[in-house]
Amino acid sequence: MTIAQTTAPVGTPIKDGLSALDRYGKLNRPDLSYTAEVAEATAPIYQKVKHIIPEIEWPALAPTIHAINKLKKERNAVILAHNYMTPDIFHGVADIVGDSLQLAIEATRTDADVIVQCGVHFMAETSKILSPEKTVLIPDMKAGCSLAESITGADVRALRERNPGVPIITYVNTSADVKAECDICCTSSNALQVVESFGVDKVFLIPDKYLAANVGNKTDVEVLTWDGACEVHERFTAQELRDYRKIEPKVKIIAHPECPPEVVAEADFAGSTAHMIDWVKTKQPEKVMMITECSMADNVASETPEVNFIRPCNLCPHMKRITLDKILDTLLEMKDEVVVDPVIADKARVAVERMINLKI
Ligand code: SF4
Repeated sequence: MTIAQTTAPVGTPIKDGLSALDRYGKLNRPDLSYTAEVAEATAPIYQKVKHIIPEIEWPALAPTIHAINKLKKERNAVILAHNYMTPDIFHGVADIVGDSLQLAIEATRTDADVIVQCGVHFMAETSKILSPEKTVLIPDMKAGCSLAESITGADVRALRERNPGVPIITYVNTSADVKAECDICCTSSNALQVVESFGVDKVFLIPDKYLAANVGNKTDVEVLTWDGACEVHERFTAQELRDYRKIEPKVKIIAHPECPPEVVAEADFAGSTAHMIDWVKTKQPEKVMMITECSMADNVASETPEVNFIRPCNLCPHMKRITLDKILDTLLEMKDEVVVDPVIADKARVAVERMINLKI
């Protein structure tokens, strides 16, 4: 998978002629033994994940979690973890958790110098766009996204040339290059409101054809789109959901709007990751099935032990590139810095801030 061209190659001098490693220096690898001190310091974290992570596995994870949490202070770093991170990252080392836009917005409110983005590359770019003065690192530069890779800035320019006057809305799951060419950004939470905010009868909502179709089903606005899809959510089928209901008649099924419309139609509720989490916490169903990436169900299950989760598991291979070991290496070596061309960043920021300023 190729990564957006706005990224400088690893090790390229990018700020005042210096790489992040030059600016911050390398730190020695800490001892990663499971000592009494580590056990005591990580005991409160284990309480949060004990329903998900077997006790026998904790001594293997705890030393790295403890080392990362100490290093964060030394580097004045903040760790942003997307809802699809594994529970050891999500509950163990993250300072801010949420969907990609929540993370980027919250990061602007911290006084950290360094952001470690535990998520995929477009998310790190969005953080850099909103916090250009901060150093943004990603633990694996190859963490891409099938949606973000489906379209380029040149594609958007061609779309605009062929459809003059039609507003182009981009889902946040795109590169900075694409955001820079669009009128406004949206998330899966606010896509419908953004579509209707233009007051016109036709808009483009790119690049996710399923999100666009699901939004189009709720509005009179004609929603044109692009042939992109999330490789995780498009694998779910309506038949699969019907089969689960036969086995578990009491189960409540909640789906992400990146799923095909026929899957969303079979669900009891459809919403963004944040809305899905709220729904489970508020409704406290006896049994629930989250039709989204597996780790999110694990993370919510840790916080709602009384709800029985049935997990039809689709993993995102890109999100799963981010591991505790790679986060530790990132903080020690200050490598894999994400940079965005300032001209592109300025244009992309306009699209993101327009959405934020809609206050929907
Ligand atoms: S879950 Fe889908 S949209 Fe999210 S990063 Fe993975 S491929 Fe991209």
